[in-house]
Amino acid sequence: MQHTQPGAPQEVLFSRRALAAICAETLEHHPLETGGILLGHWHQRRWQVLEAIDPGPGARCTATTFEYDCAYVDHLASKLARQYRQPLQLIGLWHRHPGSFDRFSAEDDLTNQRFADLNPHGALSCLVNLDPAFRLTAFHVPPDLSYVRLPLVVGDALIDSALREPIQVSDLEPERLADQALAMELQQLMARIPRVHSALLPALADAFEPVLSALEAQEGWRYGLRACGRVLQVALVEAWGPRRQLWELSLSRSGQLQALREDGWSLSASAFVGQLQEVARVH
Ligand SMILES: [Zn+2]
Repeated sequence: MQHTQPGAPQEVLFSRRALAAICAETLEHHPLETGGILLGHWHQRRWQVLEAIDPGPGARCTATTFEYDCAYVDHLASKLARQYRQPLQLIGLWHRHPGSFDRFSAEDDLTNQRFADLNPHGALSCLVNLDPAFRLTAFHVPPDLSYVRLPLVVGDALIDSALREPIQVSDLEPERLADQALAMELQQLMARIPRVHSALLPALADAFEPVLSALEAQEGWRYGLRACGRVLQVALVEAWGPRRQLWELSLSRSGQLQALREDGWSLSASAFVGQLQEVARVH
């Protein structure tokens, strides 16, 4: 009796479109080697491939090797990824091999390793052979490169419908555009003081609770938060005015919550909340 490891990959699902892209690219360069990257999701222990990308106009293909046109691949991958409601992820790669050779070369191992290191679930690496009929072989690539050959099924209906959902006209409604513009503005504000995101110090999170309630209760400012360990960044965009502010909240040595604005203005937590409400009253 075979025991399947919990979390072990089960199979690979390919959209018809992704398979068509691989077939077209293989046909175009036959008999030379070619390949590309795979976009989709790791979902319910399956690699779900929505799109396959060619190596680009600047790719160099020979009988036994090929090199990507990286600028093209990066550009197209990000464009295609955004055409889906759940943006696609880079999940792996595919390439053609000469004859019936359906194992990885030492150079392939290096490339597979690079892809597997990008994702905690590892990567998917597929090989195309024309020996002489078209054959697509799929391997799961864990970070230790103990390859697992996976069954591969083609069919759009097999892929989770939520993952197939394309972006739609309704995604461009004014409210969503405004939300996106605000999110970008808040991000730009926080980028003024570069910090690495990390879980907030529990004592700081506790002390921040009443300030968060005050932020939620007022309407004068839209806000964004970024947790950075001992510091909590609060980006403020005035709702009906031009003012933009970046504050950093932290605990003083005596454990008091203090707010420091990027220009050096320092306030106690209660004064910080007070000035938020001040703006709201003006309008
Ligand atoms: Zn190879």
